[in-house]
Amino acid sequence: MKQKIMMVFFSILTCVMVAIPVIKVHASDVTLNSWQCNNHSNDLNIWTGGVGGWNVGDDIEFNNVNLSGQTYMNFNLASASNGSFKIVIDSYSGTQIGTLNYNSTGSWDNYYNQACNLNGASGTHNLYIICASGAANVGTMTLGGSGTGGGGSNGNVYLTFDDGPSNSNSQTLINTLKSNGVNAATFFVIGQNISSNQTGWNAYKTSGFSLQNHSYTHQHMTSWSYQQVYNDLNQCNQAIQNGGATKPTRIRLPYLESNSTIQSACSALGLTIVSPTVDSQDWNNASTAQIISNVSSLQAGGNPLMHDWPANTIAALPTIIQNLKSRGLGFAQY
Ligand SMILES: [Zn+2]
Repeated sequence: MKQKIMMVFFSILTCVMVAIPVIKVHASDVTLNSWQCNNHSNDLNIWTGGVGGWNVGDDIEFNNVNLSGQTYMNFNLASASNGSFKIVIDSYSGTQIGTLNYNSTGSWDNYYNQACNLNGASGTHNLYIICASGAANVGTMTLGGSGTGGGGSNGNVYLTFDDGPSNSNSQTLINTLKSNGVNAATFFVIGQNISSNQTGWNAYKTSGFSLQNHSYTHQHMTSWSYQQVYNDLNQCNQAIQNGGATKPTRIRLPYLESNSTIQSACSALGLTIVSPTVDSQDWNNASTAQIISNVSSLQAGGNPLMHDWPANTIAALPTIIQNLKSRGLGFAQY
């Protein structure tokens, strides 16, 4: 009898494992720091430092997480379906501070970074990560925000880069940011560049940085009809999502050109327009020194107009970042 029960058990388990490798459930005594989940519970040995398979209703609780300055949460996950995670504080049914709506990455072992914003939480809380729909394998979960760059004691800036991805520049740009301690940045993506720049796109996707809309064709749109604008911007959203990243919530308009038609289309697509607060002039052949000087007026909450492609931008970044840090500014992403 016992053997029969075990056989049934294993056949059920086998079924589950074919569909979704492993199910992981509630645990406790886990500390999540700014960049890494550390499991201190024997209950979670399947998940620790590696892969856990999640189904609807599964959750992990991290105790005593300092959320001050954390503006987003990144999941490195693989899933053959779309789905969502809820991020909740204080109890399983407590206040929800974030939702990750993730897209299929094409298979159960194709891992991409997908991130969501965290809203309105500061101080120390117990953090619950709950699989609300779909199913996914999760490798790592990381929090990011002002605490990860220059300290952010005087607030955060949003480093933004337009016009990528690019096979030749994107990885170097990302490496430059990360090696200088910047773990939050935003890339405004030209949709039509994705398919022809897969190396750059993969660098974007694995960076953990925010990937947002910069239109599909990057044309002058002020004379376009509403439908033309809507279709182009929507096509960019689709290209980003089809590429395995999350649906954009922000847009930088090509050439910064706007009118009421363009604004209506953005609004209909749920895209908030991000206007730069400082122009680095990197698109206008500014020298490295000029770019550094132009960005020096950047204030907390602001973002500079910079691009993925100029060599002078990459050359200027270490000094720009150092200067921002020395002013007590940290780094956040949209
Ligand atoms: Zn542009």
